Amino acid sequence: MLRSFRIGSLFGIPIKLDITFLLVLPLFAYLIGSQISDVSDILNTTLGAGIDIGYITSGVNPWLFGLAAALGLFVGVVLHELGHSLTARRYGFPIDSITLWLFGGVASFTEMPEDWRQEFAISIAGPIVSVLVGVGSFVLFTVTPVGFDGARFVLSYLAILNIALAAFNMLPAFPMDGGRVLRAFLARSRPYAQATQQAASIGKFLAVLMGLFGLLQFNIILIGIAFFVYIAASSEAQQVTMKAAFQDVTVADIMTPAGNLHTVSPETSVAELVQRMFSERHTGYPVIDTSGFDNGRLVGLVTLSDAREIKPVERDAYTVEEIMTTDLQTISADSDAMTAIERMREHNIGRLLVVERQSPTQTQTQPLGTDGSTEPATELREPQEGDDLVGLISRSDVMTAFDIVQKSGAVGLSQTQRAD
Ligand SMILES: [Zn+2]
Repeated sequence: MLRSFRIGSLFGIPIKLDITFLLVLPLFAYLIGSQISDVSDILNTTLGAGIDIGYITSGVNPWLFGLAAALGLFVGVVLHELGHSLTARRYGFPIDSITLWLFGGVASFTEMPEDWRQEFAISIAGPIVSVLVGVGSFVLFTVTPVGFDGARFVLSYLAILNIALAAFNMLPAFPMDGGRVLRAFLARSRPYAQATQQAASIGKFLAVLMGLFGLLQFNIILIGIAFFVYIAASSEAQQVTMKAAFQDVTVADIMTPAGNLHTVSPETSVAELVQRMFSERHTGYPVIDTSGFDNGRLVGLVTLSDAREIKPVERDAYTVEEIMTTDLQTISADSDAMTAIERMREHNIGRLLVVERQSPTQTQTQPLGTDGSTEPATELREPQEGDDLVGLISRSDVMTAFDIVQKSGAVGLSQTQRAD
């Protein structure tokens, strides 16, 4: 859904622009330009900016300085996100990218810390950077001689905008920075999932207030941010709840075991495959080679979307072998259920093949993750000889299991266990 392109990288972190950003940049330039006279007036009285209003409002100057201030603001946003990202990286969390979009910036982490101290440090780092950028802009403003009205306008305005940005982000509206700080404090004395739910409830309440305030003020940006905060708070709370629910659940617990799996052979025709999908109401089949020496070897996975690539009239002429996916995403049976969910989401796929390593000693010789985690590094490799297919895990398996765990009250159980 996010259409973005890369514009460069800083400290090895790709910086991307979302297409919505291209709408908001001219909008900000326009908004700043159209209020340049009022804003300059305020800057003159509060900071003694000494801006010549006649000069700054003449010709294209409002739009030129409006654009410069808008660009400067987004540079400040990138630095803010870098503050979060570099702090997170220091704790060993990998950073995917920083993306500028409609509501500013987002730093994408592949995982979030659950240690409240780390979360606190990562969350507060962005606003601290914004304050520093504001102070830096103010220092530059004071050394810019009177007479350079454009530069004095942009720098003094950026000083105020960056401080305001830090203050706004510190609103305790989870998942904004202030809300994450709040969760970090709550998590000191409660289980992480409970802290998240409480922070998310406060976040949603503040989002509603923000939305109402935005409506009264006819402030579309504020209404948009309110919507975003509300939705993001709900989805992150749900994800954390799921993680807590699946705390002691492994892939083996919720997968469809190999014995119950419907499989196909590579030489099955696509027409026959589609017929089977229809009658068995399955949309994905592991492909098992039952010929030759490798009796029962897993060679691929074939799904409905693979079959759809072939026109109905040609389906008799093609076999499963020709359309199946051989680049298989596998997961070991003893992995956490949550790892399976994250991997499906990450690769945007509906199912993972569950394999059992035949020689467990091999696992120990594999290099560990860069952060020194003890997660088996074997999870990300290609299937090899000696891997036994023990099952299949799909999104619907996961959702059904989540439903059961929640309704049976196991979530509450695991929370009390953690609290002890
Ligand atoms: Zn932030």
